[in-house]
Amino acid sequence: MGAKVNANFEALQANYLFAEVNRRVKEYQKAHPEADVIRMGIGDVTRPLAKSVVAAMVKASEEQGQAETFHGYGAEQGYEFLKDALRKYYAGFGVSLENDEIFISDGAKSDCGNILNIFSADNTVLVPDPVYPVYVDTNVMDGRNIVYMPSGEENGFLPMPDEKLEGDIIYLCSPNNPTGAVYNREQLTEWVDFANRHGSVILFDAAYECFVTGDLPHSIYEIPGAKTCAIEICSFSKKAGFTGTRCGYTVVPMDLVREETSLNAMWLRRQCTKFNGTAYIVQRGAEAVFTPEGEKETEENLEYYRGNAKVITDTLDRMGIFYTGGKNSPYIWFKCPKDMDSWEFFRELLEKAHVVGTPGAGFGACGQKFFRLTAFSTRENTIEAMRRLEEMFG
Ligand code: PLP
Repeated sequence: MGAKVNANFEALQANYLFAEVNRRVKEYQKAHPEADVIRMGIGDVTRPLAKSVVAAMVKASEEQGQAETFHGYGAEQGYEFLKDALRKYYAGFGVSLENDEIFISDGAKSDCGNILNIFSADNTVLVPDPVYPVYVDTNVMDGRNIVYMPSGEENGFLPMPDEKLEGDIIYLCSPNNPTGAVYNREQLTEWVDFANRHGSVILFDAAYECFVTGDLPHSIYEIPGAKTCAIEICSFSKKAGFTGTRCGYTVVPMDLVREETSLNAMWLRRQCTKFNGTAYIVQRGAEAVFTPEGEKETEENLEYYRGNAKVITDTLDRMGIFYTGGKNSPYIWFKCPKDMDSWEFFRELLEKAHVVGTPGAGFGACGQKFFRLTAFSTRENTIEAMRRLEEMFG
């Protein structure tokens, strides 16, 4: 008798990657308090919010303090003003959405986990290896069977459909975390055709789409046929520095139907039952991202990170090291020098160069000999960290 716990939790990996990295760094710093340690491992942004975003949130806060302009509960799926702004943003990529296909949330991580509510635990899930650990852990918690798609130097860390690896739910993340690799139109077309052929649903994580330049797709809906097979999850975290402010959104097309059931209607039902909407103040801030001033200011921050990424990729180019990412992504994923394992390189880099990165092994078996650096540090620290890397390992 008594409450039973979710036994699936027992199957979760004991150590969360970043907790382990932090533990090791703290231990090192305790033993070497004089070391000037530069952190190039964490995926959090460092630039502050754009001025126009802050101004919009201040104005919205004032509104909340006046009876005439006060907002209580909003629609669970978000305010129309923000959905209008997003609809126009997507129109800029040639994608036409209806407001009712857009659901505003408090971030992409929650949506990544919550969206699984509308799928049976019997589904098999296909995830890339290496992988953003949230895709794996959220499915482990539900007890779903997970199949890994290996990737590596041979396919530029961009796994492609393989008739031998079938999945009912397929996770794609482009630009990718951790590898920074980006699918082109032809590659995404292959995925969309594969999913439509098999009746699979692609969960497309576009959290880093803002880093894309040139003709690469920002959204999976730029690919014909995607509206019958894909859900897109996105975030203001990296686009506009909302990691601590919290806003994201999920697109579930009206045309997406499985077992004669509208997934849009299911997601609406789920959100209305378990979610009471994102804060009005935060949604006003997110709306301001799409004003001309907001776009200019957020783009300046993105350019800063792109500049950091270039400092890293230029260094790796000089060192002749294989890498993916950095061009349309804040992540740079490179092969550890001297054929080292990633935790071994983590230790050497920390001890010799006092630079912290993220060992690829933490993202899956295919990351065993790879390492992730991020472009979210300051320019000064990025330059200094790369100077040390080149000096110690060049
Ligand atoms: N998806 C990917 C691939 C990420 O790397 C992250 C954050 O690092 C998220 C989603 C989470 O975004 P949010 O801050 O909106 O929860």
